[in-house]
Amino acid sequence: MGRLIVVSNRVPSDGPPSGGLVVALHDCLKHNGGVWFGTSGDIVEDPEDSFAELSGDGYKMRTFDLSPAEQQGYYLGYANSVLWPLCHRRADLMALNAGDYDVYDSVNRRLARMMAPELRPDDHIWIHDYHFLPLAACLRAEGVTATIGYFHHIPFPATHDLMALPQRDLFAGWMASFDLFGLQTQRDVAAALEMFRGLNGAEQLRDGSISLNDRRFEIRSFPIGIDADAFVKEAQSTDGRSLLNFAPDERLVIGVDRLDYSKGLDNRFRAFGRFLENRIVDEPRASLLQIAPPTREDVDAYQQIRDALEGTAGKVNGEHSDLGWTPIRYIHHAVPRDTLAALYRAADVGFVTPFCDGMNLVAKEFVAAQDPADPGVLILSQFAGAVEQMASALIVNPYDIGEMAQALKQALAMPLHERQDRHEALARGVFRNDVAHWTQTYLDTMARISTERAALT
Ligand code: ADP
Repeated sequence: MGRLIVVSNRVPSDGPPSGGLVVALHDCLKHNGGVWFGTSGDIVEDPEDSFAELSGDGYKMRTFDLSPAEQQGYYLGYANSVLWPLCHRRADLMALNAGDYDVYDSVNRRLARMMAPELRPDDHIWIHDYHFLPLAACLRAEGVTATIGYFHHIPFPATHDLMALPQRDLFAGWMASFDLFGLQTQRDVAAALEMFRGLNGAEQLRDGSISLNDRRFEIRSFPIGIDADAFVKEAQSTDGRSLLNFAPDERLVIGVDRLDYSKGLDNRFRAFGRFLENRIVDEPRASLLQIAPPTREDVDAYQQIRDALEGTAGKVNGEHSDLGWTPIRYIHHAVPRDTLAALYRAADVGFVTPFCDGMNLVAKEFVAAQDPADPGVLILSQFAGAVEQMASALIVNPYDIGEMAQALKQALAMPLHERQDRHEALARGVFRNDVAHWTQTYLDTMARISTERAALT
């Protein structure tokens, strides 16, 4: 295969790559050679129409800066205040500010203009996430003929919600400019196909691909995984319980999320409160450790969540604490990965209850971190993409407080043999379908499409 070209919002240019996806992409680039394009993270008054070049262990990194207006309109505005809520079933939270779309579009055009002279026809270009939905269309306009794939890390929007997007008529054309449009789940593929079924001029061909005007492309699901082996090592590096000031028989329920309205945190706290109300006094105490660093604090919708959540935690703690015990411990900052892994391993229950989530890697990390001889129990929302591969978790409806409280009770009382059986089934999937498998499957599909395209010309 030709070179691999990766595009993501941020290029990991500050230090050695960390985190499952970044490391996996780094490994592919190192193996194939190629270029990683994306923003530098620097906001400057007058960004130049050119890239900076950095060397990245067998490949090049090419970064560009954003102006303050671009950071606002492209990143905070259209990407994170329009597309993010749209894709997470919260069209009501879309902030449709005049001009943001134009800036989003112009950043994509500028990037395409800067990339095009550096690309070769046999490159395989892999674009990541909703910051770059129009990028293939912009690259095609610059004359780029190479095979272009995209992966949508978040859920695909419901057809009904898409009607609320002012640029809804452009969406299908953006998608059709890619050769491969990757999604997390079968559910997302079904949502995308539903959109095309209702579209004039679109047709699903016998091989499953979609044709629209003069373009033909494929929509497929590629459920992302984690670097499970690395995670086990990190989980074993420290005794998680030694990090906590817990009574010896105190049980630990853990939640780990970015502070985001899609994560269902307020309902999670309420469910924990309901569970405490129903608790029989002589049962061992269970505490909820919630680690939730604030993100995107410049976006209005995010400023309100923190207040709401602190209110609910305060209420539950006010009702149930005593002198030596605070049932909800709520940490507002990121913790190092090895600490996180050790805490997962020390936990009796992983409480993962988003309203809407592309995949949810925390669920997979929790499973990978467990001791197979004495594993904790995963409680998982039916609305996390991970549920398609994790049927052996306790599946809950994150809108149903009573059901979640009951699941906590069931998880904490679950006999060892049932915990082991469920964990074995979950771990099999997490270790088999890890992030290396994901990247390889995606790249193999892009290579097949590229060969088929070449045969047609
Ligand atoms: P999202 O991509 O929506 O944030 P995921 O669950 O798919 O949700 O991925 C979140 C990632 O961020 C996981 O790898 C998780 O370990 C990490 N993470 C979340 N919260 C923290 C935290 N407080 N400290 C460190 N890492 C965190």
